[in-house]
Amino acid sequence: MEGFEWLIEKNFIIESFERVKYNEPVAEFYEWLGALEDDQTIVNKADRIRLCMKFFDVDYYRMQSIKDIKRVNACHDLFCYNCQHNIALKRFGKYMPILEDLSKDFDLYHVVFTVPDSEACMLKSTIKQMYKKFVYINQYFNGSRKSSFVDFSQFGCVGIVRSLEVEFKVRKDKLWYHPHFHCVFVLKKGMNFRKVKYNCFSHSYKNERLRSFTRFEILLQNMWYMLYNDIPFTQRNFDEITRGYSCTADKCDSNEYHEVFKYAVGGLFKWKNRDLICRQVLDTLYHALYRRKIIQGYGILNRFKFDLSENDDEAIRSYYEYKKRLLAFEKPVKEVQTMSQVKRDINEGQIVYISRFKKTLKVK
Ligand SMILES: [Zn+2]
Repeated sequence: MEGFEWLIEKNFIIESFERVKYNEPVAEFYEWLGALEDDQTIVNKADRIRLCMKFFDVDYYRMQSIKDIKRVNACHDLFCYNCQHNIALKRFGKYMPILEDLSKDFDLYHVVFTVPDSEACMLKSTIKQMYKKFVYINQYFNGSRKSSFVDFSQFGCVGIVRSLEVEFKVRKDKLWYHPHFHCVFVLKKGMNFRKVKYNCFSHSYKNERLRSFTRFEILLQNMWYMLYNDIPFTQRNFDEITRGYSCTADKCDSNEYHEVFKYAVGGLFKWKNRDLICRQVLDTLYHALYRRKIIQGYGILNRFKFDLSENDDEAIRSYYEYKKRLLAFEKPVKEVQTMSQVKRDINEGQIVYISRFKKTLKVK
């Protein structure tokens, strides 16, 4: 079919509708918090998240049975699964060509930094300390902070992306939060760290297989523990400490870093945690993350301007050419559609939905 590249698949819309179903508890939370703090801007968030994906502005080409989505009412809220999902896709689309390019000259590592699980009352201070101390990690790796006993220049780090994720789980009738950073480190090519050591974290990995760690991972584990606990990063302290925090650094093969990156910058929390979302969780996260940047690029990955690339320009041109052909038949009618109208169209299957935004959400 001509214009197929602009077609919005049925599942894409259906899945979006499924995701926004989980927004009602968030809306109720904003109403509650807005009343509690007597703050109308918070109450307004409730209205916005309730209306997410509920209205579509379309150009309707009746004779050709095509509806071109011009705008979707999206809330962009931190707790909206749908908006966060779409933002993650967009982010992925912007970073991926850059990582692909970098992978020719560098190796990419998926690095995870964790700290012990935190109770609700401690989450804000835990995250504050993680953010504060990650700055040091970046400084050691970029050379602006020197260590007396580790030569960080050996890793040839040129860039990092750091993304916060907070998982939560019920343990012994209590809710525990597990904040951690997923990162992509862009390091010198060909270091091939060998796995050499087992330690207390070796047992806790998938498939219950014992995992050994590389010297690089052990360095990160001990260093992260020291930084987080305000222990000076000296050789003596390093040699004396008997523990670290669980950190892993896995080299991404060329065929897997798409997946790794998608996972690493997927956003604040995972879909599997959705059923635990309640007022208590939202209240904790809202205050713990207030004005925090969830994703941050450093070094070479901070300097890129993630604007539309030439390819995107090309894609947009092709959209306008396609649209010109639609217009040769008829002038569209401008309509505002509700979610239920869109659902009806999809079920009946007579009308085709297209959008020029399709390309910006496209994932390999
Ligand atoms: Zn939304």
